[in-house]
Amino acid sequence: MPEPHVMTVTGPMPASSLGAVDAHDHLFLRTPALPGDEFDDLERSTAEAMEGRASGIGTIVDMTPIGLGRRPDLLRAVSEATGIPIIAASGYHRDAHYPAGHWAHDASVDTLAERIVRDLKVGMHPTDWTDPDAAPDLARAGAIKAGASYHHASEAERRRLEACAIGSQRGGVSILVHTEIGTFGHEIVDILTGLGVAPHRIILAHLDRNPDAELHAEIAARGVFLEYDTMGRTKYRPDIDLLDLIERVVAAGHVANLLLGQDIGRRSMLRAYGGGPGMRYLMERFVPRVRNRIGDDATDAILVSNPARAFALEVPA
Ligand SMILES: [Zn+2]
Repeated sequence: MPEPHVMTVTGPMPASSLGAVDAHDHLFLRTPALPGDEFDDLERSTAEAMEGRASGIGTIVDMTPIGLGRRPDLLRAVSEATGIPIIAASGYHRDAHYPAGHWAHDASVDTLAERIVRDLKVGMHPTDWTDPDAAPDLARAGAIKAGASYHHASEAERRRLEACAIGSQRGGVSILVHTEIGTFGHEIVDILTGLGVAPHRIILAHLDRNPDAELHAEIAARGVFLEYDTMGRTKYRPDIDLLDLIERVVAAGHVANLLLGQDIGRRSMLRAYGGGPGMRYLMERFVPRVRNRIGDDATDAILVSNPARAFALEVPA
């Protein structure tokens, strides 16, 4: 068996050398859903990533999908300046993140899928097809982002999920699906497995917005990854609730299904842009408390060995 690799923006890398993985974050982002909260400054995002690295993050997975201000060239620049490997994403978000008239609303499944496959196999499109003639960037995507809405998926979201399923199978990468307030998890797994995606290639994001440990254990038992990322979101709930959730899901036998990310999606959450708590929060404030709760072995599984499996490239059949 060849050693498993991941695809970073600077090329393939052994999955065993990722270190602690921030499994869902953003270094550059722009969306009509969060006006005034965009961040797109190379110097500041580099400074933020540097702080993340100093806090102990080994690898960042940038889950910014097509059409949300993705900057493959700047991701390469941050990675080269900081020495942090970055895994970038192709794929699409839920409807709310695309302005009226954006091609992602009504493109065919074939077009949607073909653009994902190009990002994965050739190089990420530098302008997300607003300028169709632009040459692909040197950076290839190493993961796929998808999105559903609150307790449902629209017709367009289902079309994009289908394209993401095709991209995942053709490119051999996992799909991370945004869940709205942690809802529609079982249904997303039903849709993607129905399209032929193996459960271990599915990652459900933000399930901790609905911190229901019994429900999470049920979904984890289907063989998918659950990615938690609301640490430091004090406006939703205190971190102790997320620690309780992790402890219960681990006690139910699902430590191998958990991933942690920070999903910093707003300028106001980044220290380099004048906000907080910043990219250092996960490792500096949250992970020490996780270690106290569940011990070092389980914590290292969640931070290191689970993401090494989740983001490993699988050669398509
Ligand atoms: Zn995100």
